[in-house]
Amino acid sequence: MGRIAYVNGRYVRHADAAVHIEDRGFQFADGVYEVWAVFGGRLADAPGHFARLKRSLGELRIVPPMSEAALTVVLMEVLRRNAVRDGLIYLQVNRGVAPRDHPFPDPPVPPSLVITAKRVDLAASDARAARGVGVVCVPENRWGRCDIKTVGLLPNVLAKQAAKEAGAVEAWFVDDLGLVTEGGSSNAWIVDADGVLRTRGIQANILRGVTRNSLLGLISDAGLKLDERPFTVAEAKGAREAFITGAGSLVLPVVRIDGANVGDGAPGPVAKRLRALYMSLARGNAA
Ligand code: PLP
Repeated sequence: MGRIAYVNGRYVRHADAAVHIEDRGFQFADGVYEVWAVFGGRLADAPGHFARLKRSLGELRIVPPMSEAALTVVLMEVLRRNAVRDGLIYLQVNRGVAPRDHPFPDPPVPPSLVITAKRVDLAASDARAARGVGVVCVPENRWGRCDIKTVGLLPNVLAKQAAKEAGAVEAWFVDDLGLVTEGGSSNAWIVDADGVLRTRGIQANILRGVTRNSLLGLISDAGLKLDERPFTVAEAKGAREAFITGAGSLVLPVVRIDGANVGDGAPGPVAKRLRALYMSLARGNAA
């Protein structure tokens, strides 16, 4: 069965899916997106992702293309048409199509809506988590509103390309104070030398990760010690464990930072436990 995408009201062959050349997402990155993990054909952490989508749209004053209930119907239909049981579903809303001019179109134009889905091999994802992955550190060079999930991802693209060229899978942005902000497409965590879980607070210029938020609940239920405080690269390199979270990475142990082993260079017990807890929560709460 060929892949199917949803584009502005139509289900089309993936190969034919296209938006207009004057779509503002294409010309200005004037759009937002969301990504849900999918387990058993259902959306993981659905409410958190819908809430963030609403917030991102509101911050940019883009009119929601349809209600959450209607969006859910379309998302489920895209999953069905692509026969995705375990995977990822991507949704993008752009401000719409208008003659190129920086200010918002006046009067407003209808937003564009694009949805695609793909399968993920969960066994391969688990195998990668069992090995752990490497990250590289790059200078933070993004704008000051990384809490909005916009499609303006060029710094993330360059950072993740640098990671790939170094044989790593993620890049960690590091601010002027030497503190890790987050990953190119994930939130960053360590278990510090005292055994305390550390991740940067959301009041900072980072994406409010939905996976991160779910993990906070699991950490508190498990009685683990947490300090929402940023960490330096040196602290991460000297940490007992490190890991990243996101709809794509789920909970993924980090075993190398800039080529140096974290701990003994193998995934640690806290990250492994949190991955297991998160997988069972996400499978259970998938709606
Ligand atoms: N930070 C960035 C920059 C991201 O792009 C992502 C996800 O794509 C995350 C964090 C993790 O967010 P979530 O857990 O909601 O997928």
